[in-house]
Amino acid sequence: MKYDTVIGLEVHCELKTKTKCFCGCKNNFGDEPNSNCCPVCLGFPGALPVLNKTAVEYAIMAGLAFNCSINNETVFERKNYFYPDLSKAYQISQLEKPLCVNGYVEINVNGTTKKIRLNRIHLEEDAGKLIHDGMGGTVVDYNRGGVPLIEIVTEPDIASADEAIAFLETLKNTIAYTGISDVKMEEGSLRCDVNLSVKPAGSNQLGTRTEMKNLNSFKAVFRAINYEQKRQIEEIEDGHEIVQETLRWDDALGESKSMRSKEDSQDYRYFPDPDLLPVYISNEEIAEIKSKLPILPNELKAKYVSYGLSDYDAGLLVETKNISDYFNEVLTHISNPKLVANFIINETMRKLKDDNTNKIDAKNLAELLLLIDKNEISSTAGKQVFEKMWETGKSAGELVEQLGLKQLNNDDEILKMVLEAISNFPQSVADYKNGKTSAIGFLVGQVMKNSKGKANPQKVSLMLKEELEK
Ligand code: ADP
Ligand code: MG
Ligand code: ZN
Repeated sequence: MKYDTVIGLEVHCELKTKTKCFCGCKNNFGDEPNSNCCPVCLGFPGALPVLNKTAVEYAIMAGLAFNCSINNETVFERKNYFYPDLSKAYQISQLEKPLCVNGYVEINVNGTTKKIRLNRIHLEEDAGKLIHDGMGGTVVDYNRGGVPLIEIVTEPDIASADEAIAFLETLKNTIAYTGISDVKMEEGSLRCDVNLSVKPAGSNQLGTRTEMKNLNSFKAVFRAINYEQKRQIEEIEDGHEIVQETLRWDDALGESKSMRSKEDSQDYRYFPDPDLLPVYISNEEIAEIKSKLPILPNELKAKYVSYGLSDYDAGLLVETKNISDYFNEVLTHISNPKLVANFIINETMRKLKDDNTNKIDAKNLAELLLLIDKNEISSTAGKQVFEKMWETGKSAGELVEQLGLKQLNNDDEILKMVLEAISNFPQSVADYKNGKTSAIGFLVGQVMKNSKGKANPQKVSLMLKEELEK
């Protein structure tokens, strides 16, 4: 039997506010453990939370970036559960009236676009962090407790591991453009749970889902999805039922293990937090936040297309914020977007596949590209210089000098070589005159060889033509 895979993602993303969500403690990754804590975020009796306005604004920015409706009235609830990293024994979250509802994210997989609907984006606080010492002991760092998070919940619209990765990449990149989060999976500022079920192909009834937690890289998400869909199909084929449960993905073992049976929202005994008033947000306030939203990938792509770039190239440049920032910066020094785009796509992005950091700053790349633009070096020589720049960190001008790559543009010198080629290869000249115009290619090649690749090829070709037609 054939099966469809059905996936819904819950993505947690920490917001880059200066302070925590409901107190004045610093929101800083990597500080000394338990140094950014106070009675409010630790949940001491009688301590009162105060909502961070910037956290609300950032969550609304995310909603606007993902085409959500923003609720004018929003409420915070307590989600009650005991866990050692949650000293309050409840988490302030949103259930009934989240900040943002009904958006979508457009993804691109193998050339086709698909809309993944969002059910909601709500604001909540993060829990602390348990650190297992590997010898059976566990300690806890409460610095992260109370850090503002948005939870982005999709509808079950994702059908494969490839689609899930495309969704996460688009989401991560768009959030990076908004500037509301670092979106660093390795520091835990972006985390994701995978809900997955399978059903007979074409059936419109959803199967029972499992939820996988602890996925801390895109690669882990990809592997976990492929593992879990296979596991569920095998269970069903063996005549077993899928148990709705929470699984923990073990990336080292490459398998998922049961953590607990899945709780429903009523198990959390959600109730409105009596210490926090409902929040009212006017349409004017929403419009103002919208006006503060930085340029997003789609708009930026349209801008690049208006510079004369192809849709495809523009798409590649906006796929990573670091790259489009770099492209924009190079363009402040040189006004040839096509040349810059080609170089960044073919050279810089190729290098970045093996090397994590860009070794050439924008100004230095611009210097190299200006030399090509002004025909002072050929583009082939430019690529050679680029490689050396990447290796040595030296400037373009210095390397062109050192490698003796300056393009030969002097008319007299080129003419001399052109005439030499004409007298050395009478057969090609005769061929050309008899109508075999391709013979000129051979002659251009001879001049280029003679000049050790330095002659300006356009000039060589023009002059040869002129001489041959005399
Ligand atoms: P909870 O809050 O209990 O985890 P939700 O209803 O909010 O439950 O759903 C969480 C996620 O699970 C959503 O992304 C949703 O799209 C997804 N989901 C719900 N039902 C299924 C299913 N049968 N198969 C796969 N994913 C599902
Ligand atoms: Mg869930
Ligand atoms: Zn605090």
